[in-house]
Amino acid sequence: MSAHTDWCAGGHRCQLGEHRADPLTVDIPGAGRVVLTRVRAAAGREYAEVRATVSLAGTDPAARRQLSSLITSVATALRRAA
Ligand SMILES: [Zn+2]
Repeated sequence: MSAHTDWCAGGHRCQLGEHRADPLTVDIPGAGRVVLTRVRAAAGREYAEVRATVSLAGTDPAARRQLSSLITSVATALRRAA
């Protein structure tokens, strides 16, 4: 295994040549939560792993509209970050 990065959390998060930081959790009141993790893959490329939990309306079609808006917003955020 290659040497750990200075941000690698080590332990069980760091396996098979992959290095992972401690996840950063951000609560967004009234909207949901985002968990962001910095990762260096075994091949050396780094990426951000993003997991989002989003509150949805209790019924359709409102929930479907939210999902559609969400994918558009995620695509915009990915383009901006790239
Ligand atoms: Zn590591």
